[in-house]
Amino acid sequence: MDYQTIPHSRPSLSSSDIRSVSQVLRSGQISQGSLVSAFEKKFARTFGRKYGAAVSSGTSALHLSLLALNIKAGDEVIIPSFVCTAVLNAVNAVGAQPLVVDIDLPTYNISAPAVKRALSSRTKAVIVPHMFGCPADMNELLDTGIPVIEDCAQAVGSRYREHKTGSLGILSVFSFYATKVITCGEGGMVLGDSGELISKIKDRKDYDQKDKYILRYNYKMTDIQAALGMNQLSHLDNFIHRRRKIARRFLREFKDCSLILPVQSEEKIHIYYRFVTLAPGEASPYLKKLQKMNIMCRRPVFRPLHHYLHLSGFPHTEEAWHRCISIPLYPSLDPNEIMRIIAAVKEIFSDKQ
Ligand SMILES: *Cc1c(COP(=O)(O)O)cnc(C)c1O
Repeated sequence: MDYQTIPHSRPSLSSSDIRSVSQVLRSGQISQGSLVSAFEKKFARTFGRKYGAAVSSGTSALHLSLLALNIKAGDEVIIPSFVCTAVLNAVNAVGAQPLVVDIDLPTYNISAPAVKRALSSRTKAVIVPHMFGCPADMNELLDTGIPVIEDCAQAVGSRYREHKTGSLGILSVFSFYATKVITCGEGGMVLGDSGELISKIKDRKDYDQKDKYILRYNYKMTDIQAALGMNQLSHLDNFIHRRRKIARRFLREFKDCSLILPVQSEEKIHIYYRFVTLAPGEASPYLKKLQKMNIMCRRPVFRPLHHYLHLSGFPHTEEAWHRCISIPLYPSLDPNEIMRIIAAVKEIFSDKQ
């Protein structure tokens, strides 16, 4: 059968998204302007924060957050190994020392005990990505007393106990890259309750018309992106509803498969940005089989950070990297695609093989 390929990920773009962008284009005001300010306010309000600073990417959001916290050479920042290099890049951009730690399985989130073991007098922050949409152990991490930068790039709309993720860090960062939960093509946001920290971020993202010289960047968001972001934000509840509904179906259908499925718990509302499973062995042969069936699954992290840094240890990250398979899950999957994914996964991971 000649099936069309189901991509691993695909943005949900609607006619209202297109309208909102063309309106900006027609207005002629296309760079950073009033729509960026409006998006910052609306986004901050959505997550119960006082202030927002819209920026050009999740990476620039992390970089400026570290700068605002005055983190510099000689300081240490704790980060997990099982995450994209954007997080490592941000720490290196300010000249601080990255301290990479292991994760928990099967949440794939930074291990709070490992963070505690890594603490020293030089530790100035911990960056906590809520991996694949599942909230990290925020209470344990906040209890360390070290400033927590929440990385919500994959967790827009998740909840930890009664809190929205993005409402808990001293600063909380977001990414609006094309395949994230909501998108502006490229873009990012920092939320916080300190006017001083957010002012520093707003100052540093724009180099022009400043009295005093300090190193600044061009990390601005445009009104074109902000218009798209605002409209996407208005669809967030729908997107999450769709994601969770598809995830419940997958969890039900895959319960007898030889896969370790994502964890569900009362206190962690998962948005299933990625439906990440642990295969019974090395992921590659399974990924190839699924690809032959025109279903594009992926390793959810290209390479763990400790590999790039030539460090050893990290048994959970190693296991995750070898065995993880991310199964396509996004709001724009149609019923037929969902059926094909379920049939393929059940065939390949049936316990009877
Ligand atoms: C995508 C992502 C980033 C980086 O965001 P960009 O907008 O691509 O720069 C950072 N952290 C996590 C956890 C991400 O998923």
